[in-house]
Amino acid sequence: MTNRATITRMTDEILDIAEANGIDVSWRENLVTRTADRKGTSYGGKKNGFPYLSIALKSTGWTFKPNAIKFQNYLDYLVKSHTPMRDKKRYGMTMVEVAKGAGAWCEYRAIAKDTDIGDLYGEPDDELKPLAALLCHEVAHVIDYNSGELEIAGRKFGPRGSVHGTKWREIYRLLRTSYVATGKYKPQVIEFKPPKREMGLIGLPLFDLVA
Ligand SMILES: [Zn+2]
Repeated sequence: MTNRATITRMTDEILDIAEANGIDVSWRENLVTRTADRKGTSYGGKKNGFPYLSIALKSTGWTFKPNAIKFQNYLDYLVKSHTPMRDKKRYGMTMVEVAKGAGAWCEYRAIAKDTDIGDLYGEPDDELKPLAALLCHEVAHVIDYNSGELEIAGRKFGPRGSVHGTKWREIYRLLRTSYVATGKYKPQVIEFKPPKREMGLIGLPLFDLVA
């Protein structure tokens, strides 16, 4: 269901938002995008000197959906008495929302409760929504490591990549509030776009990749 064409479209739209907000994405023609038909971790950053994005196709979509076995299993785990309190606190509200009928896409723990860039909820059939959020997360890493000095909402940031630091969070916040919360990730018009050139990987193996 998640295919490369959708990822290419969404990545372009997210980069357009960044550009419209004054972020230098002149590197975008050199962006290396890898899609792998596997479960696991997606990455964004810089690899071998090129801006780099790697998406694990089988780990896109909602983390939990109502009536799904994964949700039921996790619910069983959470209500056990020996389950760590940190997991109960982390996922308790998430489970309530899924029990009420929402799909839930889970961010990493440190930002899970952030209303802009934390856990995401939506219609379980709207699988593009969690994909859009994942791409905002990863493209924010690519920008963090490739766009140099930035000014976002009046705050200035240096040229260095911040992993999951303040600079990355503000990039991610800008992208997600503009793209996911607004519903702009939904396909609007069908248009022809010429295929992008894939860049070969050359040079020294310098990796600045963040999951
Ligand atoms: Zn990350």
